[in-house]
Amino acid sequence: MRLLRVGRATRDAAVLVFIGISLFAAFKWLNFYENLKDLLEKHEIFQIDELLLALLVVGLLGFVFGYRRLRDLKVEVAHRNRAERDVSWIAAHDPLTRLPNRVGLKQEVERLREGNKAGKPHMAMVIDIHGFRYINDVYGNEAGDEILMVVADRLREIFVDCYLFRLGGDQFYAASESSLIKDWEKLARRVIKQVSAPVLVNDHCYEVSAYVGMARYPDDAANIKYLLRCSLSAVAFAKKENSGEPKWFDPAIDEATAKYAELDKQLRAALKSGEVKPYYQPMIDLTSGRIVGFEALARWRRSDGTFIQPTEFIPLAEETGMIGELSDVLFTQACRDAAKWPRTVRLSFNVSPAQFLNKNFGKKMLDTLAETGLSPRQLEVEVTESMFVKDVQLVSDLLDELRGAGVHIAIDDFGTGYSSLSQLSRLRFDKLKIDRSFVSSFLDDARQAMIIRAMIGLGRGLGMKTIAEGIEETYQAETLQLLGCHQGQGFLFSRAVPAEQATAMLQMTWPVRSEGNTAIN
Ligand code: C2E
Ligand code: MG
Ligand code: MG
Repeated sequence: MRLLRVGRATRDAAVLVFIGISLFAAFKWLNFYENLKDLLEKHEIFQIDELLLALLVVGLLGFVFGYRRLRDLKVEVAHRNRAERDVSWIAAHDPLTRLPNRVGLKQEVERLREGNKAGKPHMAMVIDIHGFRYINDVYGNEAGDEILMVVADRLREIFVDCYLFRLGGDQFYAASESSLIKDWEKLARRVIKQVSAPVLVNDHCYEVSAYVGMARYPDDAANIKYLLRCSLSAVAFAKKENSGEPKWFDPAIDEATAKYAELDKQLRAALKSGEVKPYYQPMIDLTSGRIVGFEALARWRRSDGTFIQPTEFIPLAEETGMIGELSDVLFTQACRDAAKWPRTVRLSFNVSPAQFLNKNFGKKMLDTLAETGLSPRQLEVEVTESMFVKDVQLVSDLLDELRGAGVHIAIDDFGTGYSSLSQLSRLRFDKLKIDRSFVSSFLDDARQAMIIRAMIGLGRGLGMKTIAEGIEETYQAETLQLLGCHQGQGFLFSRAVPAEQATAMLQMTWPVRSEGNTAIN
């Protein structure tokens, strides 16, 4: 455009110069000035001289006017250019950290390509801030923003002669025109160390950590654009490994990542199509042999009839943030099913630690109960000990909200997590679920037996019911009953079954203290 405008101005100037010279020559040839003078003197009456003077004044004023408008135009153009520059800066940068964003990264790659620099060796790393989402959800966006700004400043100090981008969310990307693996690894370790240093925001000390995935060109990536994808794959592996070490891209990992991504896609579709459903495993009163409740266990039955285990897809959903949606679907269905059971039969529902990050979690559960007509007193929520590692206060507030409405709280897989007894004394539970790892071996192992006995004693002392998981043999059920354990659950009684079968099972009792494990009506 600018070129076109310059060409037109030169052409205009050339035409004007040509017209000027031609007019000058014509006037000179016609003796224009002398003739005009004679005309003016002879015909004074026509007032031509005044007319010419007026034209001259108008011409001069027009010149001044034109000059001033030209200056305005120049200022306007400068403004417009600056605005254009600002808009493209905003589009290519993250306003919070002022680092280039994904658009900026794309532009940089284009620039490298145009400058023929894209063929040189490059190192890249993706830095994923672990714990950021939690702070953002629990303490609010303000704290989250501050942390991102501090982390970005720390990264700026580390990556002095390198490119640094914010990819969005809690991920950053650094790249360098270097081929020194050792130096890049050193930088990665510095990143892990410095990002983990506490961040002080409004007198509150926050801690985050970093996962780092690295890749290099041309060794790992076919082209410079592909480096980001390789680094993302490496960081996904670093997350999974959780060793606190930076990880290099490995094609074998990439395959695993691709599989993981495929499973994630399939799970999203399965949730929509209703392939994931709650099944129910009975919980038996060890004295009467009657069903006192059912634990809802997620089952994903694919269209080809195969099952995917919850141990495979629940952690995936927790990691990808899909657990809330998955749990909502399962919980609503489970409440609908349980609303058909007698009021004395409880529904036990597993809750993931990740769900406790949502402050509305308790309210949402109570809303679903109201919608489906299930009494809160019929619900039991199973939480695991790992839940208390992060923020005991937040968890205890949410549990209190549920308890206040009449919901029972059970501590699941007891003995396998990291909770201390002091936390058990601070938080109130209604039921303690002894993990099946203790149950499976306690009759052969005297120490395990002592631990089980102590757990039952602890439960009784704190006024909790106890339930043993994973009972597969009659003698296990009998011994547990003799030790004072209230309830039992396991394949001896039943595996998890679909809703209709669970309802049909309600009338059954199991002869816990007699021989055999067949159910009697
Ligand atoms: P969990 O809550 O401890 O559930 C008990 C697990 O033990 C279930 O595995 C159950 O099938 C299995 N089990 C029960 N009795 C026996 C037995 O006698 N022997 C043996 N070997 N195993 C027994 P499942 O269904 O594979 O679930 C595994 C874990 O996945 C659950 O452990 C729970 O932590 C999680 N999970 C399942 N469904 C959900 C869900 O809807 N939401 C959440 N957040 N987690 C869930
Ligand atoms: Mg459970
Ligand atoms: Mg369990």
